[in-house]
Amino acid sequence: MSRRFDLHTHSMHSDGTTTPAEIAQEAAELGLAGFALTDHDTAQGWNEAREAATKYGIEFLPGMELTTRHEWRSTHLLAYGLDPELPELVAELDRVRDSRVHRAREIVERLSADFTINWQQLHEETAGRTIGRPHIADALVEAGHFATRSEVFADVLNPGSPYYVPTYAIETLDAIELVRQAGGVAVLAHPAAARQSRPVDPAALAAFAEAGLWGIELEHPEHRPDWEAEVARLNERHGLHVTGASDYHGAGKPNRLGERTSSEQTWQTLRELVAHPN
Ligand code: AMP
Ligand code: FE
Ligand code: FE
Ligand code: ZN
Repeated sequence: MSRRFDLHTHSMHSDGTTTPAEIAQEAAELGLAGFALTDHDTAQGWNEAREAATKYGIEFLPGMELTTRHEWRSTHLLAYGLDPELPELVAELDRVRDSRVHRAREIVERLSADFTINWQQLHEETAGRTIGRPHIADALVEAGHFATRSEVFADVLNPGSPYYVPTYAIETLDAIELVRQAGGVAVLAHPAAARQSRPVDPAALAAFAEAGLWGIELEHPEHRPDWEAEVARLNERHGLHVTGASDYHGAGKPNRLGERTSSEQTWQTLRELVAHPN
């Protein structure tokens, strides 16, 4: 059997529910040859993931999923093998995470008019992690208002909801440049996700490619198959590399670790290109 790699996973350092070491162990048990940890806007889990990968005899690639926007459209950008200490990157990540805290507080305050939810408690529980809507969703599930994260998103946490508040996001073109400056490689996350109103815009993809985007995550469990085919055709113009990954969030999402994967060739090409391949 060919060696397979999962390039998109989240731990409890952002909105996943398992530790980086647990992801490494689960990846090894599933027979994956390696994985990238891509928590939202943080490198916190890298050391633990790297050590655990060594312990379980698999490979590890450091990564993160950056909160960006292009012309007001929320756009997630995967960054691999980058230097997390580049000052410009550190400043942007601080700004993104800080805004996430303020935005979460505002959402929780709006929700607290109608639901049992307390900011102080949530703030303490999420200290040191990249907070996001999933943590708010978990609190509402915990309080018995909803059964799952997904139901909370569908009802009160989507952008059309009166409780919703946007967060600061880096312009995608600037983020691509920043990733390159940090010696990393940028991949457009889930460009055909069914939850969006449409797949990535042709003009946007052209601009991203021009800015130095390396690849697109063409295989993702939340893609709409017809949109995925559309994006694949669109990419014929650009010839960007393509990846597949699960976007694993532990118990936080139905996505199962390794349910979409990338080839050994993609993995090796990535590792040879980046400044920090381990
Ligand atoms: P935020 O980072 O606060 O904008 O929240 C976005 C995150 O919420 C994404 O990275 C997903 O992990 C998660 N998410 C989005 N939609 C859903 C959903 N329907 N069910 C569960 N998690 C979701
Ligand atoms: Fe997430
Ligand atoms: Fe994402
Ligand atoms: Zn993700």
